[in-house]
Amino acid sequence: MRWVSLALNPTYKEMAKVLAGESRFLRCIQLKTAIISWFEINMGTNSPCFKEYWETKSRISVMEKFGNANVYANNAKSILNKATGFIDYYDFTLNPYRGCQYGCSYCYAAAFSPNREMRKDWGNWVIIKQNAVEILEKELQKWHKKNPDKSPSIYMSSVTDPYQPIESKEKLTRRLLEVMVKYQPTLVIQTRSPMITRDIDILNQFQRLRINMSIPTGSESVRKDFEPRSPSIPARLNAIGKLVHNIPCDRNHDVRFSVTVTPLLPILPDEERAFIRKLEIVDRVVIQEFHASQNRSLVAGTREEAQTIKQKYAWWYDREQVNYLQFKQKLENLLPYVEIKEGKEGFGYE
Ligand code: SF4
Repeated sequence: MRWVSLALNPTYKEMAKVLAGESRFLRCIQLKTAIISWFEINMGTNSPCFKEYWETKSRISVMEKFGNANVYANNAKSILNKATGFIDYYDFTLNPYRGCQYGCSYCYAAAFSPNREMRKDWGNWVIIKQNAVEILEKELQKWHKKNPDKSPSIYMSSVTDPYQPIESKEKLTRRLLEVMVKYQPTLVIQTRSPMITRDIDILNQFQRLRINMSIPTGSESVRKDFEPRSPSIPARLNAIGKLVHNIPCDRNHDVRFSVTVTPLLPILPDEERAFIRKLEIVDRVVIQEFHASQNRSLVAGTREEAQTIKQKYAWWYDREQVNYLQFKQKLENLLPYVEIKEGKEGFGYE
């Protein structure tokens, strides 16, 4: 049918051709329908599984499918971006990817999606910054020209996880580490993926390194509700243990390890103590309350999906403040040799 083919592969010229010979009234209705279809298809607004999106006048098409995710590749203008807000202790943030295949229900980073539809589809797409390695080399050279006696401090990553499932194939984060190790920045890596252990051979060459493993709950059942696509809690605990035991901390390597329980999600009472005990392998535990969107900026608020899941855990959220304080107290009692920090303070290197 002409209208189907027009809607699927339209140009304005074709539209005019197809419309010739139709009655004026019908032509108006049909033209309107065709134009709407053209915009929906070409601007990627009609399907949760869109095949392309627009970025500053360029159309970016899906490169491949990896698991459930559409994978795109794009060039970034810069890779080291000025760190602000919560992590303004650092000179730069470094995000090798845009989007995140883990798609955690509470993730604020969805607010930084290229468009509204991709924000709704958070977790089902990821963009590889394909020129990241080249730009990083240039940007670090530039920094050192300006600051010959000072290494920058870098927080990787602030709005994605640097160990995306696609990283197993792309090795982009690994290649960025290979560049960084030559310049020896103060580096903090924030991840929830055991894939980081793949890079121990490079990580143990950094002189100032902190690794933050995100584990927001000690209960697997809660993890499955709030972040079903992310690695299991035992896998993350094993990974941080492996890092602690395989990365030297000596006179030449100031290496530190944290578990970030942020935002603190419910923990089943009979699993809490055992979880806390397992955290004694790190030197810092960071906690932070679960912020409802009304308490945060509209741009970077907690996603609605998490607000719905929270209702299942009314036994925890009805006394959220009390539970938070009690959990903090238990951390302090059971982990006397571990630094317990809250919120922003916990995300600094020192
Ligand atoms: S892993 Fe981090 S960036 Fe990715 S969805 Fe979860 S909270 Fe967001």
